[in-house]
Amino acid sequence: MDILFKNARVITMDEATSYLENAYVAVSGRKIEYVGTCRPEKTPKREIDARGKVIMPGIVNTHTHIPMTLFRGLSDDCELQVWLTQYIWPAEDKLTSDRVRLASELAIAEMLRSGTTSFSDSYFFVDAIADAVKSSGIRANLSRSIVGSGEEYEEMASVSEMKELYKNYHMFDDGRIKVDASIHAEYTSETECRIKTAAFARENGLVLQIHTSETKKEHNDCIEKYGRTPTAQFEKEGLFDGVTPLLAHCCHITEDDMEIIRNRGGSVAHCPYSNLKLASGVAPVPAMMKKGVNVTLATDGVASNNNTDMFEEIKLFATLHKGICGDPTAIGALKALRAATLNGAAAQGRSNLGRIKKGFEADMIMLDFDRPHLIPCHNTISNVVYSANGSDVVMTMVGGKILYEDGEFKTIDIERVKSLLA
Ligand SMILES: [Zn+2]
Repeated sequence: MDILFKNARVITMDEATSYLENAYVAVSGRKIEYVGTCRPEKTPKREIDARGKVIMPGIVNTHTHIPMTLFRGLSDDCELQVWLTQYIWPAEDKLTSDRVRLASELAIAEMLRSGTTSFSDSYFFVDAIADAVKSSGIRANLSRSIVGSGEEYEEMASVSEMKELYKNYHMFDDGRIKVDASIHAEYTSETECRIKTAAFARENGLVLQIHTSETKKEHNDCIEKYGRTPTAQFEKEGLFDGVTPLLAHCCHITEDDMEIIRNRGGSVAHCPYSNLKLASGVAPVPAMMKKGVNVTLATDGVASNNNTDMFEEIKLFATLHKGICGDPTAIGALKALRAATLNGAAAQGRSNLGRIKKGFEADMIMLDFDRPHLIPCHNTISNVVYSANGSDVVMTMVGGKILYEDGEFKTIDIERVKSLLA
């Protein structure tokens, strides 16, 4: 036994006992070896007293573009097209592999610091991103976003990069890094490009990420072009045959779209804060959940958020839809936490992640509850969802390794990263 946590309040996310008091959690190697209220007999190499703390599964952020951390606050409060064409795209044109490597380290530090242990990303300069993920110890599903521009598919640099990423990193470190396929969006790709990218996902058993119905314009333009919504068009093109989709945003999807996603065992990456900030809309999440769609939570890129604190998304998720539906029971606290942990793990194709349970990956975080805004604590799950924030995280573990503890990053030289990006 490597580490034993004692005196802990534990949110297990397990169906049978979702919460334990005065509990022990033991970690051996990469896995959780024991969870329960009796002290295990074995002597651990290290014992951590978790009195006054809460242990819960690490958070899974299912839609990010981590190098966009460099564009934090670059442009706020403007129209989407102005934001993209005048600020984001010109800034992206100036990116280099070295800058992306540093930005990725900064983004990973921010995520670890605020309790995220796994994320799903799509971007370019993927080698630099993968290298940062590899050395930091965080878990991730990485993808090279494919934009179809009329070139011969096999000749496209992005396609070679997708294949290289798969060859070099898929299932790296016992699956800590997985590679997904990614079509940027319907409006930035042609049918052939989409079909071939989906075929790559199918042949290799990969998750397929796509930005879908993020804005009303994108959604309506697709209906005008094909007579179908983006989701229905993807289904018609056979993209989802034998492929598990992870569709980002879905602000404007219809009931029929929801049925397609559910029938394909797909997931939606709900990005409430980014969608509000860019005025894209509000995804009809309660309806999706009623249909049985796996709803997960995400921040999107920092350029439209402007941070990766998933506690903000969890709170917003649990409150926004109450207001929209006029129903305070629309999304409960436990449902919101499940979206941010278990559902996210499922969307990444990781069935042994998202619970504090024997045999599961030891991805867990510890929150310090001895703080004014967390006292009193009538209900721990309620305080995590409605009162806590990312700064309350005092320990972050991925695959049994502590990567952040009490202000110290174990795998990232944060002072170097900060000085080089200043
Ligand atoms: Zn996005």
